[in-house]
Amino acid sequence: MLNIVLFGPPGAGKGTQSERLKEKYGLVHISTGDVFRALDPQSDLAKLAKSYSEKGNLVPDDVTIQILEAEVSKFPDAKGVIYDGFPRTTAQAEALDKFLAAKGTSVSVMLSLVVPEEELKARLVARAEVSGRKDDADPSIIENRINTYKKSTAPVAEFYRSQGKLSEINGVGSIDDISERLYTALDSRKTKI
Ligand code: AMP
Repeated sequence: MLNIVLFGPPGAGKGTQSERLKEKYGLVHISTGDVFRALDPQSDLAKLAKSYSEKGNLVPDDVTIQILEAEVSKFPDAKGVIYDGFPRTTAQAEALDKFLAAKGTSVSVMLSLVVPEEELKARLVARAEVSGRKDDADPSIIENRINTYKKSTAPVAEFYRSQGKLSEINGVGSIDDISERLYTALDSRKTKI
């Protein structure tokens, strides 16, 4: 089973590129951000998640891990999964390792999209026009999301680097160019998986 962690800061292009990888390799795409946004807005879980996400903070690990595991379990026959926006903390990465080990599989590779901060901010502001996401529209929330990424999420790359699973990809350029870089990185890795 192919388990791809698609990693990068907010605005790096994870959602866009996940859709491409999903089509090309026939994988399931799981975005924890999308799962949170799709919850029944009246539910306690949705309200809890929103109380964090609307400020640009991370939803607590225990809730997020439970949501992720429930989502993966919906696709028992998947030949592979793209994890988009998960894991975002080292505790989540450890939980994912355990969860996959219990299923007799493991993370195959982390593809990390590298984009300079100024470009991220410009992309998020532009995305707000079409996404309607409040957390994309407010500069102070964008700032908080990027700072949270640096403090809590960036260390997750080191977790996978130490396992020899990290591939860093230049995330600047056309969407097609970036997709090609991801395909090349993945194809060169797949021979080793
Ligand atoms: P995203 O759509 O990936 O930008 O996520 C939107 C928001 O959902 C984030 O700012 C967090 O508040 C929350 N979220 C998504 N994924 C996670 C995660 N793995 N851990 C904690 N919070 C998350």
